[in-house]
Amino acid sequence: MIKRAFIGLTAPRLEYDLVEPDPKVPETIPIPPRLILLLNERLDSTKETILKKGSMVKNGDRLCLYRDSTEYVLSPVNGTITSIASYTGDLGTYSTYFIIEKEPLYDEKKTVTEFTSPVEIDPANRFLRALPGSPPFNAFMNPDKKIQTIVITGTDEDLLSDTHQYFLANHLDEMNQGIKILKQITGIDQIALTIPEKFKLPEQPEGLQIFKISSLYPGAIPEMIIKDHLNKVVPAGGKPEDLGICFISSEAVVSIARAYKGKKFIYDKLISVIDKEGTKTMVRAILGTPIHRIFRQLNITASEKDRIVIGGPMKGLASYTLYQPVLPDMDTIMIQDKKDISHVSDYPCINCGKCVKVCPAHIPVNLLVRFLEAGLYEESADSYDLESCIECGMCAYVCTAEIPILQYIRLGRHELLKIRSDREDSDREDSDREEEEAANA
Ligand code: SF4
Ligand code: SF4
Repeated sequence: MIKRAFIGLTAPRLEYDLVEPDPKVPETIPIPPRLILLLNERLDSTKETILKKGSMVKNGDRLCLYRDSTEYVLSPVNGTITSIASYTGDLGTYSTYFIIEKEPLYDEKKTVTEFTSPVEIDPANRFLRALPGSPPFNAFMNPDKKIQTIVITGTDEDLLSDTHQYFLANHLDEMNQGIKILKQITGIDQIALTIPEKFKLPEQPEGLQIFKISSLYPGAIPEMIIKDHLNKVVPAGGKPEDLGICFISSEAVVSIARAYKGKKFIYDKLISVIDKEGTKTMVRAILGTPIHRIFRQLNITASEKDRIVIGGPMKGLASYTLYQPVLPDMDTIMIQDKKDISHVSDYPCINCGKCVKVCPAHIPVNLLVRFLEAGLYEESADSYDLESCIECGMCAYVCTAEIPILQYIRLGRHELLKIRSDREDSDREDSDREEEEAANA
């Protein structure tokens, strides 16, 4: 529920939705004839890929680009690869997509690939990282950042979504099984579960800390959970893992339980879909389903200039294609009619101060935005806390001048990373050159 402030003197109250006590069974989207699987690795034209156009794949095959790749996706069907190509995502991120044409007579019920690996971190990381919910097994394997606390999210980060809550409300038994397996895999006993403050847990799960999350946005964003419930602050530019804390969704925990208990891979992703009227439908779609298939099933028409948002209204990112596939961490899809899209202006800041007042990270947003608009990214970080931003979008929501502040912030952080990485490369080249010159002298 979104309530704007009646007059500009008070901060808006943005409330998270609470899952219905007895939610409807999710609508199942049939498996499409062609699946699009996105792999988080860039194609390298100098290397030969393992898979080629025409390669046959089976349900449960681990698809990688190169022999030394660590990134993978699992094939949810038997079929043939019809395309392998580069995909450009937000802010110039590059990945690769495989298009798989499903076998004409493929029957998911008859084709189950067994998963019989031991309950240990190596096989879990090797085979289960691509399950619905994206279990972050690689974070548990990082020797430089030892994880001591796991936080399972039974709450949804953004408004309007209740995908994580759905598992809390409907699959608590499987969550308990998944938690036991997670403890065994990671050896970590300190586990907390986030629940909405108004949600009634039928029973207190054993050996878990319960964090009751405020119904007011942005209380369910990881940085806020860490501050409010663990009394710690994620360092500027850092991640929860820097504090030894790892977040995992309720869906990921259930996927782990189903994979080990059922001895099979899981591909069904649950997604909250919000149509142009704001009606929410929970759908179950196989990973790799293009989102136009979901829209077709729900009778949603996407017209020119409508906006498709992957994620919720505050933190989501616009998608430019209806062929965007369902991904393991895709919890929400929204479509907004072109007439309802909020206006974005190129008016200058009028210094009303609303953004500063709502910012949970206490950033001088009115000053930060000036430096970002001028492309002064290092100054934005050094003097105006660019890296302390938790990307909640509250500043953009209240901005009188309708400045797309969150987009400026995301672009600023991306450019800052590029500047730093280019500088490191150039410093490294300088020092290599100096060493070479010294050796030749
Ligand atoms: S998005 Fe805006 S309001 Fe939210 S933390 Fe960042 S600067 Fe502050
Ligand atoms: S950025 Fe927007 S909200 Fe912030 S001071 Fe300027 S006009 Fe006001």
